[in-house]
Amino acid sequence: MRIEGARGFRLVAVGKQLEPFALPALEPGPDDVIVQVAGCGVCHTDVGFAVDGVPTRKPFPLILGHEISGRVVAAGDNAAPWLGKLVIVPAVIPCGTCPACRAGRPTICRNQFMPGNDGDGGFATYVRVPSRGLCPVPEPLPPGLDPAFLSVIADAVTTPWEAIRRAGLGPDDVAVFVGVGGVGGFGVQIAAALGAAVVAIDIDPAKLELASNHGAGLTLNSSSMNEKDLKAAVRNFAKQSGRKGIGLKIFETSGIPAGQQTAFSLLDFGGYLAVVGFTPQKIELRLSNLMALDATARGNWGCPPEQYPPALDLVLQGKVAIAPYVEPHSLDDAPAIFEAVARHAVARRVILKPS
Ligand SMILES: [Zn+2]
Ligand SMILES: [Zn+2]
Repeated sequence: MRIEGARGFRLVAVGKQLEPFALPALEPGPDDVIVQVAGCGVCHTDVGFAVDGVPTRKPFPLILGHEISGRVVAAGDNAAPWLGKLVIVPAVIPCGTCPACRAGRPTICRNQFMPGNDGDGGFATYVRVPSRGLCPVPEPLPPGLDPAFLSVIADAVTTPWEAIRRAGLGPDDVAVFVGVGGVGGFGVQIAAALGAAVVAIDIDPAKLELASNHGAGLTLNSSSMNEKDLKAAVRNFAKQSGRKGIGLKIFETSGIPAGQQTAFSLLDFGGYLAVVGFTPQKIELRLSNLMALDATARGNWGCPPEQYPPALDLVLQGKVAIAPYVEPHSLDDAPAIFEAVARHAVARRVILKPS
């Protein structure tokens, strides 16, 4: 089955505005599906491609967008059972057969497909993606949950979920999130849902207030505190929390150099630092602190598809709220709103919705 009349917005060169584009007829390969996009989140990785010149694996012109939810409207022969299903498309779709995939490290699969990087993505009305790894969404959805909002699970929710899972976070732990915008805000909620005591650090009072309403037991504004006072406040909270876990579990979710400095400086004996945010910039630090503190630092590139259902479950159970952290915009406004996201002029995570 061919899908005619799909349209989207594509990037033709770094630094250029997104351009409206009429896609040629879309036909799924034997293992592919065509998803009618309900929503596609705008991520700072997209800005990296469009503005900062981070190279995409498929050269321009390219339709960006890797946080996609929607309904399967066409499926290849091997993907027929997906037809009609509401799905979340993983931001990183591993091949399943290479040595990394077989070793249980699918996020570093070199044959992975990332929509909006290896092929056209979700800033469009329809997108063609491999069916492997799709996350089915049980229906009906809880009242008030817009299928478009589920798009941000594809990266902004599952990436901190995977970082938290790798950290082995549980009810005995104190979790610290440095940067509580979209990704960090979801991280705070996930950590709280898992029973941890949670500290949120940011420079934006509005984000801190949101975090405090959604799982953070302590919020700290790092713009008005020095490193020593921050450390003391976190240590004091950890002590008061009665949690018996050894070492703080720190999540760097700001993706800015100052946030990375703060996160590293908070490491204590047996501490764990998860690097979730991305910046191309460098920081100076004393790496030997890891040795002296017997501490661990670890990154993760996205989240394996098999971890999507448990993350989705937290959203469906109402333990992770999406609505306060996102703002929907019409896909037709993609060029202007994308520019605003690049200028950091939008506080919430933008979701583009085809009208
Ligand atoms: Zn992303
Ligand atoms: Zn692979």
